[in-house]
Amino acid sequence: MVVAVHPYPSPQLEDRFGRRFPYLRLSILDACNFRCSYCLPNGYRAKDGRGKYLDVQEIQRLVSAFARLGMRKLRITGGEPSLRRDLPELISVAAEATGVENVGLTTNGATLHRHLNRWIDAGLTALNVSVDALCPERFERITGHAGLEMLLDAIDQALDSPLRSVKINAVLLRDLNDDQLPKWLEYLRDRNVTVRFIELMQTGDNLEYFQRHHYRAQVLESHIVKEGWQLLDRATDAGPAREYQHRDFRGRIGIIAPYSANFCAGCNRLRVTANGDLRLCLFGETGVPLRALLQSDDQFSALQATLIRQLGLKRAGHSLHAGETGLIQHFASIGG
Ligand code: SAM
Ligand code: SF4
Repeated sequence: MVVAVHPYPSPQLEDRFGRRFPYLRLSILDACNFRCSYCLPNGYRAKDGRGKYLDVQEIQRLVSAFARLGMRKLRITGGEPSLRRDLPELISVAAEATGVENVGLTTNGATLHRHLNRWIDAGLTALNVSVDALCPERFERITGHAGLEMLLDAIDQALDSPLRSVKINAVLLRDLNDDQLPKWLEYLRDRNVTVRFIELMQTGDNLEYFQRHHYRAQVLESHIVKEGWQLLDRATDAGPAREYQHRDFRGRIGIIAPYSANFCAGCNRLRVTANGDLRLCLFGETGVPLRALLQSDDQFSALQATLIRQLGLKRAGHSLHAGETGLIQHFASIGG
């Protein structure tokens, strides 16, 4: 009998609740060139952290340590990750780390048409692009950026590329884009793509906006179910989205409803900020600085020990429904 031996039969990242963490979201900067009204309505303002983002070597050590502990999928996010000139290098460092099977990128897509092939050549396997509306003027109103048409062309180019997965993210916003479903359905009819509708989450900065524009994902979910969309089985390593398909459409709809019961039970992800702080939860109260442990290869064991120890402190779930947003001022500071 042949027994498959994993190259690293090492300790896994597992918490007190038996959850495993094969997925890391790494923010590589907090700056952004958009002004999404729910995230950075006044645009990015540089703070003390500017210029102190983890560099390529620090990221290489970080990714290796996580991969050794069972991380298989890395998602690079921001702020807007494409603003970093060394992004292709960061992608290839991640793609080459032993154990990493998928390297994804979450982007606003403003430069997708220019960089897609370079990112794919560097080892990118998955792409999530944010598109909050399909009407150009609505898109501009929400993001502060014109250029929807070029973005949609670039997404079509990505759909024809060797990428294993291309997804679109749209944040649900009452009175701003809650009338866009018919346009999305038209879009999904012949495209093999998943559009994930994300329920707006409250952050430290957006309380008033949240109260005005929060739209419950469940309302949309009930509606699509009535229209014949069927829930797909959840893969064991799936993210937080509940995914639906319909026989008349090539594309799929994902629903991300962070306020729904049990949302945290399936948590499989950890986060690291652009300055190297580990965040056990998007809405957690603490960040654990890892940067001091990323300065030399000799610190590898200490870094792994810290990650395992910290996981022991991860809580069962967030308290977002009680308005407790933790450290997060806006998603650009951590990458969503
Ligand atoms: N700039 C990139 C982008 O927009 O795709 C990556 C970073 S962005 C912070 C990651 C994701 O978080 C985006 O899909 C964005 O729409 C989402 N997001 C930002 N603020 C949010 C909020 N308050 N509630 C829900 N999703 C949010
Ligand atoms: Fe920038 Fe992304 Fe935040 Fe929009 S959601 S302001 S693109 S970081």
